[in-house]
Amino acid sequence: MTIPFQEAPRAEFVPDAEEAHGLIRELYPICRSITGDGVRETLRRLARIVPLQLTEVPSGTAVFDWEIPREWNVRAAWIRDSSGRTVVDFAEHSLHLVSYSVPFRGRLSLDELRKHLHSLPERPDWIPYRTSYYRDYWGFCLRHRDLLALEPGEYEVCVDTRLEPGSLTLGEFRLAGRSSDEIVIYTHVCHPSLANDNLTGVALCALLARKLAEVPLRHTLRFVWGPGTIGSLAWLARNEASLGRLRHGLVVGLLGDPGPLTYKASRRGDADVDRAARHVLGRFPAGVRCVDFEPYGYDERQFCSPGFNLPFGRLTRSSNGAYPEYHTSADNPEFVTVPALAESLQALYRILGVLEGNATERNLAPKGEPRLGKRGLYGSMGGGAPGEFENALLWVLNQSDGGPDLLSVADRARLPFPVVERAAQALRGAGLLTDSTGTDGKEMNA
Ligand code: ZN
Repeated sequence: MTIPFQEAPRAEFVPDAEEAHGLIRELYPICRSITGDGVRETLRRLARIVPLQLTEVPSGTAVFDWEIPREWNVRAAWIRDSSGRTVVDFAEHSLHLVSYSVPFRGRLSLDELRKHLHSLPERPDWIPYRTSYYRDYWGFCLRHRDLLALEPGEYEVCVDTRLEPGSLTLGEFRLAGRSSDEIVIYTHVCHPSLANDNLTGVALCALLARKLAEVPLRHTLRFVWGPGTIGSLAWLARNEASLGRLRHGLVVGLLGDPGPLTYKASRRGDADVDRAARHVLGRFPAGVRCVDFEPYGYDERQFCSPGFNLPFGRLTRSSNGAYPEYHTSADNPEFVTVPALAESLQALYRILGVLEGNATERNLAPKGEPRLGKRGLYGSMGGGAPGEFENALLWVLNQSDGGPDLLSVADRARLPFPVVERAAQALRGAGLLTDSTGTDGKEMNA
């Protein structure tokens, strides 16, 4: 009896989502915006995990139809009542100040002050998140119950902010692969004290990058932390000449809420990253969602704009705006769960594993079935039904005529991609298969 082909069981990646949650808690108090020291401080802390590079794009730089704005930083911001009591204080919560508030100092009546106050009457205990990037304005956000408690009278307002020429900061960590073909993962890093949106993406990208730095890669991987919209536009403008190397892209964010894992397809709809994500999510417990592209969302709006039409999908859980806590103080570290973080990280890792391992193969003994038993690839005892691995061997041999790639084989055979990939490796090792794309397989999961 021949010994069937044995492969050491693949080490499954078990993400340390507790570490991710700890990082989210650490970064949460920092006031970030589309520019400023908060983003730099956040990226500097991530640099303890992966040695990412910071790029500064000067204010005034044209990026397509946009321009890098002035840099915004906050020293202090508060409101005091006529007795001198502080009733709203940026130092207590970074959401209290409307992002990009212009400097202001003065005394106002309650009626005048109210024009600059924002609350959520339907959620009286939550502080809303508001921005005013492109309109000169100052404002405060507060709990509606605190707004209702304000007595008529005069209030002293201090908005000690600086809006001046500076720069927008991008963070990037590049992992060189054997090929110059690139996978880009983009996450936005412009929100102040909000956890699911956007610290889950910020933290999970750092931990994923560190994990992938341990394994040899086929693609060159680029993790980018940048502000939403203006940041992806700035990145695209700076990288436009080399976008031909970009093979697959993912925008990630909102990865820790209790909603189901959700993949939003690229504008193309049939890119390899779309196929890979559908395959991977289809093997998670029921409840995951794969949705079509729409031009509302995060930075996929820029990557998938018609002038680029890049193969960028998005991995998320709840959609932006689709949960009550979205853009409020209730999106805090307690809202983010460790199991959700772990599942999201696992999904990201597996999608990248498919992109890394997918290849188009050619059967070198295509006339009839080659004898697998004599090559140690198949149990020699007849009669029994083939196991999953033997089944994968048959599917790979049958389909590998230079047409379908391994991901198509896995989908058609209803087998997990890693099993099909291992079968292809074994067949290559036995001289029965060759990579017809010249990109010989993967190592990420080996
Ligand atoms: Zn947001």
